[in-house]
Amino acid sequence: MTLGRVAVVGGGINGLCIAWELARRGWSVSLFEQNRCLAQTSSASTKLLHGGLRYLEQGHLALVAESLRERGRWLRDVPQHCHWLPLLLPIYKRQRRPGWQWRVGLGLYDGLALGQLPGSARWLKPDEIRQLHPQLQSGGLLGAWQFWDGQMDEQALGGWVLDQAQRAGVEIHEGCDVREVTTKGELTVQTSVSGITSNYAFAWVVNACGPWAVDLLERSEIPSSVKLDLVRGSHLLVPPSPALALPKQGLFVEVPSSRRIAFLLPYKGELLVGTTEEAQTLHEPVRVSAAEQKQLLGLVEHYLPAWLPIAQQQGRWFSGLRPIVRSRADLSSASREADVQRDGRLLSIFGGKWTTARSLAEQLVNRAPFNGQP
Ligand SMILES: Cc1cc2nc3c(=O)[nH]c(=O)nc-3n(C[C@H](O)[C@H](O)[C@H](O)COP(=O)(O)OP(=O)(O)OC[C@H]3O[C@@H](n4cnc5c(N)ncnc54)[C@H](O)[C@@H]3O)c2cc1C
Repeated sequence: MTLGRVAVVGGGINGLCIAWELARRGWSVSLFEQNRCLAQTSSASTKLLHGGLRYLEQGHLALVAESLRERGRWLRDVPQHCHWLPLLLPIYKRQRRPGWQWRVGLGLYDGLALGQLPGSARWLKPDEIRQLHPQLQSGGLLGAWQFWDGQMDEQALGGWVLDQAQRAGVEIHEGCDVREVTTKGELTVQTSVSGITSNYAFAWVVNACGPWAVDLLERSEIPSSVKLDLVRGSHLLVPPSPALALPKQGLFVEVPSSRRIAFLLPYKGELLVGTTEEAQTLHEPVRVSAAEQKQLLGLVEHYLPAWLPIAQQQGRWFSGLRPIVRSRADLSSASREADVQRDGRLLSIFGGKWTTARSLAEQLVNRAPFNGQP
């Protein structure tokens, strides 16, 4: 195994983007992934490249603006694996937030996108909605805002990043569990095939273990200034039936009797419904609970009742674990911003979003120790 000067631990989208960016700037990089790259949180998202309209409500303006810039960049640079998706935000007689609040939010959301949109948000009357989305629950429907966000083929876009990183010279070592790190740049690695444990020394180590970032520090007896809240999010995927055409428009909706937001989206020929938010620990299995299944089927029943029978019979589930940097806010409104901790030759990153993985990598590499010469 040829070792480079920087070791990146974790082959999710954040670790891959960091490794790629370091290699682009002339560093020699080895990436260690305990299983397969892109098989954890980064393959279980809602597949949106978005600013997160709902984060505006919580005042995370800088994060939304950055995410919208990054959305535009993915769509511009990798159009073969992502596209613009029209979304409907239906407004009903009885719902938590008034229609005007969304109108203000969408004005700001589109404004922050700085002219990169295929069209600005517009108001649709119920008969126009029926044309675009005939299956949407129409009882009490006052109208809908139509706006745009980005959607990715998550596997393909992640694969593209992996390929770019390898072309830039990153050595990827899958099946390599990093058991311990030190602040001097040392790693203890156990390979899953042979079970053999080896020690390596690097100039720098980046801990990009996503939900496991704090666990790796604790295991290595390095105090973490950051606490992570781990939040399971589950999704339901439903194939269309011959009698039920897949809508071209996505839905951005309030979860009934809650302020939470959920999505019902066309995704690679199926209906994708999500997500839930359930706090859990690292040691519990990351899989959908009966309560989450009920919640997601409830969303289908409420907004797309014609889809309920096929969702019950043929729906498939997947779940992911979101690492959220702990704040005083509740889990829904806590910021998705990332944090970095430096301990000697070890840098750890916490949190983040798929959409902003490239800018997070650039921010990390723009700072010490990586802003000098390799
Ligand atoms: C339900 C849900 C929906 C989401 N929807 C969106 C969305 O629509 N848009 C968006 O922008 N973001 C979304 N996100 C957020 C986004 O998915 C995450 O921010 C991102 O995928 C995190 O990537 P990561 O690389 O930090 O973590 P991961 O993808 O989990 O990668 C960490 C990697 O580290 C490896 N690892 C851990 N410990 C070790 C070790 N000791 N040795 C070696 N390897 C190790 C793991 O195996 C894993 O592969 C969503 C998240 C969830 C959970």
